[in-house]
Amino acid sequence: MTLTATPALVERVVARTVEIAAIAAPPLDEADRTSLVQRWWTADGLEEVAVDRVGNVWARIRPGARVVARAEPAAASAAAVAAEPAAGTGAGAGAAAPARPAVVIAAHLDTVFGRDVAHGAVGDGRYLRGPSVGDDSIALASLSALAELLPADMAVPVWILATVGEEGLGNLIGITTALAEPRTPVATLVALEGNWLGRVCHTAVGSVRWRVTITGPGGHAWERADAPSAVHTAARAIDALVGITRPTGARTAINVGRMGGGESINSRAISAWFEVDLRADSQAALDALDATVRQAISGAIATDNTDNTGTADTADTADTPGGTGGTGGTGTTSTGTTDTDAAGRAQVTATFDEIGRRPAGHLAVDHPIVAAAADALRAAGRTVTYTAASTDANAAHRIGIPAVAIGVTIGEGEHTEAEWIDLEPVAEGLCVLADTVIRIAATLGANP
Ligand SMILES: [Zn+2]
Repeated sequence: MTLTATPALVERVVARTVEIAAIAAPPLDEADRTSLVQRWWTADGLEEVAVDRVGNVWARIRPGARVVARAEPAAASAAAVAAEPAAGTGAGAGAAAPARPAVVIAAHLDTVFGRDVAHGAVGDGRYLRGPSVGDDSIALASLSALAELLPADMAVPVWILATVGEEGLGNLIGITTALAEPRTPVATLVALEGNWLGRVCHTAVGSVRWRVTITGPGGHAWERADAPSAVHTAARAIDALVGITRPTGARTAINVGRMGGGESINSRAISAWFEVDLRADSQAALDALDATVRQAISGAIATDNTDNTGTADTADTADTPGGTGGTGGTGTTSTGTTDTDAAGRAQVTATFDEIGRRPAGHLAVDHPIVAAAADALRAAGRTVTYTAASTDANAAHRIGIPAVAIGVTIGEGEHTEAEWIDLEPVAEGLCVLADTVIRIAATLGANP
């Protein structure tokens, strides 16, 4: 039996993609999109439409069979496929027993673009162009199509979720909150990315981001030529990162993407800063990398403090509290001891401000959830590409909920204003999405 997305359904998905892509939604500033999605899903007649405390929108597509009810074996089978209008009620819905844990399909409301960027999708034959069309507007527009595509009676509940804070400094706050305070127990998370049709992302790339600020006593470049300089120390610390031996057995990356500091060309710098982005495809490697990098930076500070022979200018530093020492953990920490050592030599200190943290995770290619997503693509005649990326799925991995990320159509240029998607594969992508959910449900149904 074959799933079919009707032309009317595809037309609605495309129209909604255009509608939501016209709305700016920087991370943690998505309220306009939140209200629109809430209106869509209410108009669709979905049940349990609600906005949670951080601005995620939830809705239920299928209630699933109650635990005490005997699930219809055919309802959870991959073969039981029918394109029919959602009935809104499922097998055993009247029972008092709790529903089984649900399959939740999520797409993110936010974009990487500020409010100053002109939004709006422009049609160009079979293509749609504009900021966020693929990442993640068409995914948002596609979620409620599941109400039409999935079988009316499913043993496993199916919910959809539009999340805030997936991009950049949003730090996955939306999905993290959604999974910590779920409106229904969650068995599996499927993160939907608009332009990833053909990909199955089974590895969640984790990241840790630090802004490191180096502070020194400053001084005249000639008169206090032996005093430490925050800029010199920052350079030494960055150089130390370049030479780090990275953890083996995982893919990792260290990047210092931005730096700055200093007050004038003829001053020993009082302040300098740089931002470090660490990534890994396993949590153990990410933790190890994080510790090693902090150690390298602290080591560079210590070396500078040992090497310098400059005397502190107490008038400059008397009001400046020294660092508190210590490494690890979150928030702001400092390394270095005081602004002067026992011999009265000027010292530099470093402050670490955590500006991002995303957990890593991984499912094997033969994990049933990964296999379900891959099989749905293959059944549609697609070649499967297994990928690693950072998505809402990262937050699920952290708490042991199996998760994958998949797509709706193809396109490129995400995170640029030249972003585009191809509308031709949308019907196919919607069916692959529904088939993936059916296959995942069958997996869960077999192990209630
Ligand atoms: Zn995205």
